[in-house]
This record gives sequence, structure tokens and C-alpha cells, in this order.
Amino acid sequence: MPEVRFCSACGVELPSRPPVTCAACGASHWLNPKPCANAIVVDGDRVLLTRRAYAPWKDGWCAPGGFCEEGEHPIETVEREVLEETGLRVAVTGYIGVWVDTYADEPSEPDASVISVAYYAARSVGGDESAFDRAEVSELRWFGWDELPPDLAPPGTLEAVFAAARSDSTLPDRPA
Ligand SMILES: [Zn+2]
Repeated sequence: MPEVRFCSACGVELPSRPPVTCAACGASHWLNPKPCANAIVVDGDRVLLTRRAYAPWKDGWCAPGGFCEEGEHPIETVEREVLEETGLRVAVTGYIGVWVDTYADEPSEPDASVISVAYYAARSVGGDESAFDRAEVSELRWFGWDELPPDLAPPGTLEAVFAAARSDSTLPDRPA
């Protein structure tokens, strides 16, 4: 069952989960995707992946990145988050596209957040990858394009991002 939610303006119980208008005071409540930005960090024919230390997709290999902070451009998010997570300073070199996912192991979870993730190509420009964030990342590794691990995260999406990163399409992120 969805959790009970209350109006943030007047405190009355809302009749349903957002999007919904409070019947008592008329305030609008939304449930919008959260913007994120991740990096496909490439060095020659290798790509940098981080193994997730927590749910969702625990133990899955993902592209480093994270949630955008208020007022932050996604390029800034990528460069900040990759440094925090991996210890590497990266420079964004290109834009790949946006993919939308439910941030949950079970996509039918009624209150799971939806994330809208901008993926960028990037290259390492320094730093120390032994200084990766062990609270978020259980393992950090460079993979050849032909030896990617099977458990990619988000499942299904990262495969599509890799294909887009290596394609010449002008809109590689258009949903099928
Ligand atoms: Zn209200």
C-alpha cells in the first residue's frame, strides 16, 4: 500500500499520491523525476565502472555519477560526483543523452523515485583512483569494451548508454 501523505501547506491528509491537489487548501503536489548526471569515463579502449555498495542495484556495475544539487549544471554534477566516488578528476568531453529509470530494485514500488539521468562522455585528467569512496563503491575497475561485466546498472539502461556512446546517431537516447 502507498504510504499516507500529508499536504505540506496545511497538513491535511492527501486523497492519493502525487500528482494531486489538496482538497482543503488547493496546494498542488507533484512527483517529478530527480535530475542526475553520470559519466562514461573512457581511457583508450577501456571504460571506468564502479560497483555499487548499496541498493538499488547493489553489486551492479554502474557509471559513476549522482544527483544534481540545486542550481548545479549536470556537467558540474558529473565532475563533482566522479571525483567524490572514484578519486579521479575527469573532464567532460561530450554529451550522450538522457535516460529515465525508476530508482528501485522493484520498479513497481509505489513510492520509488524516478530519476532522469544525463550521461556524458568524459576522460580522466588526474587524481588517485585508490581514493575511491568505499561507502558508495565496493570496487572500481577499468573494463575493455569487449569484456564488460554482465551485471550492469541500471539494468538494461547502461547497455543502451554504451551503445549510444559508440553510435553516430544524433538522438541515441530517443525512447523506442
Ligand atoms: Zn492543503
